[in-house]
Amino acid sequence: MSVGPGDSDSSSRAEAGPAVWDTVIVGAGAAGLTCAIYAGRARLSALVLERMVPGGQIALNDVIENYPGFPDGIGGVELAQRMAQQAARFGARIQTATLEGIEVAGRPLRMRLAGEGPDSALRARSVLIATGCSPRKLGVPGERELAGRGVSYCATCDGPLFAEKPLVVVGGGNTAIDEALFLANIASTVTVVHRRDQLRADAILQERAFADPKIEFLWSHVLTEIVGDESVEGVRARHTETNEETELSAAGVFIAVGETPQTGFLPGEVARDDAGYIVTGSDFQTSVPGIFAAGDVRAGAYRQIAAAAGEGVLAYRSIRRYLEEND
Ligand code: NAP
Repeated sequence: MSVGPGDSDSSSRAEAGPAVWDTVIVGAGAAGLTCAIYAGRARLSALVLERMVPGGQIALNDVIENYPGFPDGIGGVELAQRMAQQAARFGARIQTATLEGIEVAGRPLRMRLAGEGPDSALRARSVLIATGCSPRKLGVPGERELAGRGVSYCATCDGPLFAEKPLVVVGGGNTAIDEALFLANIASTVTVVHRRDQLRADAILQERAFADPKIEFLWSHVLTEIVGDESVEGVRARHTETNEETELSAAGVFIAVGETPQTGFLPGEVARDDAGYIVTGSDFQTSVPGIFAAGDVRAGAYRQIAAAAGEGVLAYRSIRRYLEEND
């Protein structure tokens, strides 16, 4: 799929593009799309690559309540679509494609897309990495074996499969509590298993979860196993202090224990911290000149949609300066 201004009928026309893009933006989340809006308005040629649908993790949220301008909240899919439309309106092109690698030697930078030969490498004067994060795995027995058969990392995607069934959510952050609240509308009960006796989630989410009669908490427990033959039947959990084992029946387990940055396609020259997040200067430039990073994938980012949008603007400003200085 390609989306561009007035580009409703043909992807072949969209695929052509300039020989060298001013900027290729990898990832159509809040950071990438905001940068694309600004780049388009500055009349830079901007290509946004997204391997799934625009929005990234935004699109996985049922309702987003803390993005300014929407006092009643807005659906994640709708917000993502609106951002993509806005970027396209100002001339950015959004293309469904998976980036496999970037060659950092020589300029312009060259990029390989999955399924394309070396002759069709993309060329760009600058690149913004805005690939965000994916859910972290828990790493317990049964998690991998029962993935897609009751083990899930996305309540809005898979929650509707569990009407009136007992569910477990693992984690105590904003994602876990958002998911528990969403699932409580569908399931018979939701048990939040958290490794401490206090949640990390925002106070407003905690208040709602504590007030929801369908949500229960298993405090100070870690999952040791997800059990089931064909599909999830329950979990085993251990108390972090007493080591006492508990078993819970559940038809589904939603894991929300944090995130992992999506940087597997990057060459080693792009410096990362111990957790894999991309290290940048205050100008959002990475260790490789001309390659920038913004949003959740960046070390030190405050992982919120509004913050990612702000980083997209600041990265745009640095990219523009870089292009002017390296004309
Ligand atoms: P997070 O804030 O890092 O929380 C991860 C949770 O999982 C923590 O409660 C953590 O426990 C627990 N955890 C981590 N590793 C674990 C393990 N091995 N076993 C058991 N529990 C484990 O991650 P997140 O909730 O995915 O949120 C990521 C970012 O997105 C945050 O910045 C968050 O604010 C943002 N976000 C915001 C919203 C919103 O504003 N509504 C919604 C979703 C996400 P501890 O508390 O003990 O560390």
